[in-house]
Amino acid sequence: MKYIDEFRDGDLARGLSAAIRQAAVPARSYHFMEFCGGHTHAISRYGVADLLPDNVRMIHGPGCPVCVLPVGRVDMAIRLALDCGVTLCTYGDTLRVPASDSLSLMKAKARGGDIRMVYSSADALKVAQANPEKQVVFFAIGFETTTPPTAVAIKQAQALGLKNFSVLCCHVLTPSAISTILESPEVRQWGTVPLDGFIGPAHVSTIIGSQPYEFFAEEYRKPVVIAGFEPLDVMQAILMLVKQVNEGRAVVENEFSRAVTREGNVKAQNLVAEVFELRRQFEWRGLNVVPYSGLKIRKEFAEFDAEQRFPVAYVSVADNRACECGAILRGVKKPQDCKLFGTVCTPENPVGSCMVSSEGACAAHYTYGRYKDFQ
Ligand code: SF4
Repeated sequence: MKYIDEFRDGDLARGLSAAIRQAAVPARSYHFMEFCGGHTHAISRYGVADLLPDNVRMIHGPGCPVCVLPVGRVDMAIRLALDCGVTLCTYGDTLRVPASDSLSLMKAKARGGDIRMVYSSADALKVAQANPEKQVVFFAIGFETTTPPTAVAIKQAQALGLKNFSVLCCHVLTPSAISTILESPEVRQWGTVPLDGFIGPAHVSTIIGSQPYEFFAEEYRKPVVIAGFEPLDVMQAILMLVKQVNEGRAVVENEFSRAVTREGNVKAQNLVAEVFELRRQFEWRGLNVVPYSGLKIRKEFAEFDAEQRFPVAYVSVADNRACECGAILRGVKKPQDCKLFGTVCTPENPVGSCMVSSEGACAAHYTYGRYKDFQ
């Protein structure tokens, strides 16, 4: 397939593997975090880790939008459906995220909640238009990639004069999460792994551009290479990171120049700024409360804010005590370090959020890598 096969070519992968081995200095080790769940998926699916020398280790970060959704936010969505009688629309993976009382949105649907899977915010809007007698809420999750379409839906609802559409906004921001990983107090609780650099997200960067990462490169002396989602993209980015570390450089480089610019999509950024503003704080699953890391709907659009329209206050809920998602999302532990991995916790029966989406570290390792644990 044109434009995809070129980035999955086995011979080129072997060549890049050899180049990384040659560049990596045997006397030192390299720890790179891939922030984005799409990269975690690609690394597991294509066996990229097996093509790296032992002293180059990839660490899975918290860039899977489903994985970082806290229990309390899913509980809010369930209360909207079961107690407030709304029609709740959301993306497929969100339906399976474990919530309180052994519930999930899927199980709440089995209890009679009108909960529907949609592929986009526009689909949720159509559900509202088709059902004027029902209150329809779009449970909006995700990073900067999914935020602009939510903003569009709110603006369209306003233009259409819809009175039965609102959004439970749980959009979060990438740069704040990276800061938290580098300097939060919980690092003391979980311990920390040395981080020599980051592979920057692909889709998120098409929106925000490469500029926001310059802060990390300068302030924390951590190189960042933005990469696409194909295996050769990831391997090229690893080679670029190894070279930066060897040369003592810490700058932002853009491997994904076919889609990402320094400025990003300014039109989308302006749209998001028109509809959303920063929350003072937002709780992430695994990262606790992160200041200025989430978005809320501006008061000019308050009539489309489900948190204003319905009595559903946020209540923080602790994760299952046995689940190691918190440590895994910070790169401190691997999925196979969790006692529940592959036994009690599987993609069919996820105990923690890292096992829900194919972009989660536990699900990716369960699907593509766990057999190696027994070799
Ligand atoms: S295996 Fe399951 S319970 Fe363990 S950390 Fe992963 S998601 Fe959590």
